[in-house]
Amino acid sequence: MKEQSLCNENWQRVTSRVQDACKKAGRLRTSVHVVGITKYVDISRTLAIYNAGCRALGESRPQAFWDKAAAFASGGIQVQWHLIGHLQRNKVAKTMSYSPVIQTIDSVRLAKEVSRVTASSSTVCEGFIEVNLSQQSERSGVVLESLTDVVAQILVLPGIRICGLMGMASHPETGREPRREFAHLRELRDVLNEKFPEAGGLPELSMGMSGDFEEAILEGSTMVRIGSALFDGLD
Ligand SMILES: *Cc1c(COP(=O)(O)O)cnc(C)c1O
Repeated sequence: MKEQSLCNENWQRVTSRVQDACKKAGRLRTSVHVVGITKYVDISRTLAIYNAGCRALGESRPQAFWDKAAAFASGGIQVQWHLIGHLQRNKVAKTMSYSPVIQTIDSVRLAKEVSRVTASSSTVCEGFIEVNLSQQSERSGVVLESLTDVVAQILVLPGIRICGLMGMASHPETGREPRREFAHLRELRDVLNEKFPEAGGLPELSMGMSGDFEEAILEGSTMVRIGSALFDGLD
């Protein structure tokens, strides 16, 4: 089927580009996870990219995430889901029932709600603190001025394990260099590691999308979130 073979080819191409970038960076291929972002595609294409080999999938909107996660679960298909879009507190409980990694923890209030929900089910949520690297107020994520304070308050919450930081480079129109912004996120992570040694390290850096993942890998990304490049050629 055309859809499956295109997804197979795209998956091969993307993972070999990841491999090349790792080599160029002097890093092991296994140090970078690929999360396939399926927010643009229907369930059939989501399944096709899964079948191509992409076992970690990310969705942006909670409703679409619930629908897909329910469909995969009812088919008995194991996926590590990631939520990569803004999560409202009233959607936390339903979202957590599918145990995704929450990449978009952007406030203490949200983290407290996640902690409350996991406490009631004796589970632990893995999460990333989303950082607003662009300094533009319309973008999401914790602003730089409050990052240390927000991280300090979230790290003490039970039932939530912060694995690292997530960030997005600015739109190209702003004239900012993605690579500089990725380096900045890595530096922020390193500073936080020194400040909060008891956190056990924040090993992960979720940064890099279809247009800039090679640069992100050169700057230390451990998790690239790739959407459109996986669905090239499918209209
Ligand atoms: C859509 C999205 C991606 C994937 O973007 P592509 O450019 O299609 O690879 C990655 N991260 C986040 C947070 C997104 O919203």
